[in-house]
Amino acid sequence: MTIKSKIRTIPDYPKKGIMFRDITTLIKDPVGFRLVIDNFTQRYIKGDVNFDVIVGIESRGFIIGGALSYTLGKGFVPVRKKGKLPAEKISHEYELEYGTDIIEMHKDAFTKDTKVLLVDDLLATGGTALAAAALVEKLGGVVSEMAFIVNLPDVGGEKRLKEKGYKIFALTKFE
Ligand code: IMP
Repeated sequence: MTIKSKIRTIPDYPKKGIMFRDITTLIKDPVGFRLVIDNFTQRYIKGDVNFDVIVGIESRGFIIGGALSYTLGKGFVPVRKKGKLPAEKISHEYELEYGTDIIEMHKDAFTKDTKVLLVDDLLATGGTALAAAALVEKLGGVVSEMAFIVNLPDVGGEKRLKEKGYKIFALTKFE
């Protein structure tokens, strides 16, 4: 079984012309979910990528990030949509195709110079990952690497993030 073979594609979702890559079919399968976490764990347990904390992006980044925090023995910090976090927070507004969105993180999530592994399920335009990286950097943190289950290189996010100096890792890609 491969990770890619368990990802379902929904044509024309959320709108016409988009091929939505749905990881729920992958993670509902116990072998599939374990494959995902084992693969990430094998990469990051070696210590070649130096980081102190895992930052997961709402909401599918929580599923991977939570399990990975456990296997790697690292803390987990959530990046959330506006209005969900209870304590003092920092915000970052970023552009969507239509309009803007705001994500937030607690101000005391980590201290200056903390090294971060950023995780989400999928990389498309890179806008979400860039916004999360901006939040990390506002707190004085450093993004060591960005980890995804799926990369959609044709959408351009990988190129955009690499041009800005970020390191990208993905378990599979759809072209
Ligand atoms: P980006 O900001 O364009 O890179 O989009 C990535 C964000 O949108 C991630 O948080 C994904 O969860 C979500 N996303 C975009 N396209 C898809 C898709 O085809 N399947 C699942 N999630 C997607």
